[in-house]
Amino acid sequence: MDVSELLDALNDKQREAVGAPLQNMLVLAGAGSGKTRVLVQRIAWLMQVEQVSPHSILAVTFTNKAAAEMRGRVEQMTAGNVHGMWIGTFHGLAHRLLRMHFQEAKLPQSFQVLDSDDQLRLVKRVLRSLNLDEKRWPPKQMQWYINGKKDEGLRPQHIDTFNDQTEATFVKVYQAYQDACDLAGLVDFAELLLRAHELWLNNPVLLRHYQQRFSHILVDEFQDTNAIQYAWLNLLGREQSKVMIVGDDDQSIYGWRGAKIENIQRFLDDFDDAKTIRLEQNYRSTANILNAANKLIGNNNNRLGKDLWTQDDAGEKISVYTAFNEIDEARFIAGRIEDWRSNNGDLNDVAILYRSNAQSRILEEALLQAGLPYRIYGGLRFFERQEIKDALAYMRLINNRDDDAAFERIINTPTRGIGNQTLSLVRDAARSLGVTLWQACQVMLDNDELKGRSAKVIHHFVDLINQLEDDSCNLDLDQQVNFVIQSSGLKAMYQAEKGERAEARIENLNELVTACQTYEVDPELEQEQSKLTAFLTHAALESGESQADEFESAVQLMTMHSAKGLEFKLVFIAGLEEGMFPSQQSMEEIGRLEEERRLCYVGMTRAMEKLYLCHAESRRLYGQEKYHPASRFLREIPPECVEEIRMQNQVSRPATTGRFSNTISLETFEGTGFKLGQSVYHQKFGEGVVLNYEGSGAQSRVQVNFADAGSKWLVVAYANLQAL
Ligand code: ATP
Ligand code: MG
Repeated sequence: MDVSELLDALNDKQREAVGAPLQNMLVLAGAGSGKTRVLVQRIAWLMQVEQVSPHSILAVTFTNKAAAEMRGRVEQMTAGNVHGMWIGTFHGLAHRLLRMHFQEAKLPQSFQVLDSDDQLRLVKRVLRSLNLDEKRWPPKQMQWYINGKKDEGLRPQHIDTFNDQTEATFVKVYQAYQDACDLAGLVDFAELLLRAHELWLNNPVLLRHYQQRFSHILVDEFQDTNAIQYAWLNLLGREQSKVMIVGDDDQSIYGWRGAKIENIQRFLDDFDDAKTIRLEQNYRSTANILNAANKLIGNNNNRLGKDLWTQDDAGEKISVYTAFNEIDEARFIAGRIEDWRSNNGDLNDVAILYRSNAQSRILEEALLQAGLPYRIYGGLRFFERQEIKDALAYMRLINNRDDDAAFERIINTPTRGIGNQTLSLVRDAARSLGVTLWQACQVMLDNDELKGRSAKVIHHFVDLINQLEDDSCNLDLDQQVNFVIQSSGLKAMYQAEKGERAEARIENLNELVTACQTYEVDPELEQEQSKLTAFLTHAALESGESQADEFESAVQLMTMHSAKGLEFKLVFIAGLEEGMFPSQQSMEEIGRLEEERRLCYVGMTRAMEKLYLCHAESRRLYGQEKYHPASRFLREIPPECVEEIRMQNQVSRPATTGRFSNTISLETFEGTGFKLGQSVYHQKFGEGVVLNYEGSGAQSRVQVNFADAGSKWLVVAYANLQAL
């Protein structure tokens, strides 16, 4: 790409930033105004026009995914020459430094990074070793404290407790925790940053080397840098480099994790002659979406203030859906996505955003029911963890010998000397006979087609699985799972791994047993399947197996926090209720409420073409039915940008109807003759309210929450329910 091409697809302000002289710069602009685009083009400009070597460029992004994308785009623009450029997150870059200079950082070469779960476990162990009661000193709070101090750049010896006994204990735990980490060569996330900062502080020669090397530093999403990240950047770049930061104060959403919007102002003070450039044209969203988001964020105080406009058409109105309950909300969303797909929409262009991870379960269920592939961003959930999948694979094979995926997973876990060659023979036989792997084993053993060692190990495996079933089939589910985890050798295998990770795996395996204990089969389905089958289905629904594979088009599910910087044609935000979003805790404090509002602004401005905002009139939380009013954020959106959608066959509570001027209705829930929220009477169970439904015609069932008898699924054809 030549120089004029680099500047062609930009507006004047963007061009000014991309083609600016070598200087410190702040690009301050609202969502979708091309900040990230400008940053990428600036890198290309530096290389092509200013002849800066990629070796001298360091770029910081907010996620690893964004880093990979950025690298790809720069490669494209500069015909592939990005070798030596450092692109990554603050954490990723710090990790790289520590690996390269582990000795100077006083770390063992094989140091391990501790994720947040591992960290919590270690904190618990430290509390035990100090004889501190977990009730009085909650481990989570300790973890929070330690990370917070590290984010501020503070070691235990830097903290003055002013004779505050409570804080003194916190510091004692921090110190003991750190000693344990150092002893075992463990580095938590916050430690990565702090250590990397200290690495430079304590090694001026090394620091000078990097200061000279990185003559150009660029940082995206700068509004969410915390104190230690800022200190790191300041140390590296202030003296010799030209630093460009891009950000949006309205999208600062990590204050709760120590991010400081004030860093924007500090940058202007600390870095010489930093020039501020503002971008004001939004290229992402329709006018309806943009105006609504602008209005919403206008309710915050102390903004740096930006006007965002778009040349785009008004576009479709934002749809607000008032769901009867969380199940209805999820079904509605799945329904709209089905419509999108049947109109040839690509599922990759669709995102469902929510406030907290726990909300995904019910949405996942609805997507599964609708046969819509989806993918979840963020960490591994319980049923996706390796050891859990291993244990469940044993259970699956015991339950169904023809489960090839389970067979493949555990045939050699723990290792039992079944090599690739033997496995290939089994796979080939299965393929040519058109049978499953298990059946192929049987055939080959019966016909003596396996020789020597291969025959022996396969025989042994087949016996093991049969024996596991025989020995455990009369046990309760939790005992059965426990037995299999032990007798299969799985537990011993993980125990032998040693260390924090192994401990975590064992804890997870124990937790699996607990999960089986508390698992309850839907009583109506009890006859139709064994408890084991039911549990395995439950786990499969929960696990990544139902997630789309990498190359398949899929709906994206994520928290609003992880949606930062991304864009999608069609966006749903679920759970817009007081107490959910804004969250309960944030409602008591103005600063936190404003951060929630910024989060809502981030969520809404992900949408390019169409935005749905959903809330449920009732929602089950922690086993209780909650009735939350609609989120204040919905009221802060101008009515002219919005149309309201209601289900025709839903009994609505009068208080929340008719808030918006444009109401359209949708027909669903056919065939049962009942509406969601309808009061009904059952001869045996008494009065109740219809919560949910499934199936159609003779099969249709409704879930009723009875005042006395609790919640029950009933087949409409037999239940003889009377509408009240
Ligand atoms: P966010 O604040 O959400 O991170 P951003 O300011 O980084 O947003 P970008 O993601 O860079 O914005 O750009 C938003 C969209 O607008 C992208 O699809 C981008 O390609 C497009 N865009 C940016 N500038 C222009 C332009 N001058 N002409 C056409 N499209 C543009
Ligand atoms: Mg961006």
